Amino acid sequence: MPLDECPNCSYRLGPPLKSSGRQVCMKCGWSDRPRQSAASSLAGRSAASKPPKPLPEKALTPDEIQKILSQAAATAKNNMKPKSKQDPSVGQPIDLSNLGE
Ligand SMILES: [Zn+2]
Repeated sequence: MPLDECPNCSYRLGPPLKSSGRQVCMKCGWSDRPRQSAASSLAGRSAASKPPKPLPEKALTPDEIQKILSQAAATAKNNMKPKSKQDPSVGQPIDLSNLGE
């Protein structure tokens, strides 16, 4: 709750600061929340609320990117085959021949 006057020197206090909610005495520098703890609690809060770091991106060479793209294209082509039961590289093929009957 805001105080009317400084408990240290009885100087009249203004309303709490909007940014931090602290009340600071303009005369003696008294504060209802010492700067040190306010700063450390703020830092702790922001650190705790930070989302986990995303995985660092691997630096891919253009060759590697090309390889990955062609692999993805090959996989997509395999998945598009209506009947791929003979292909062991495809995990769980969907049998489209039974659909719609
Ligand atoms: Zn004061």
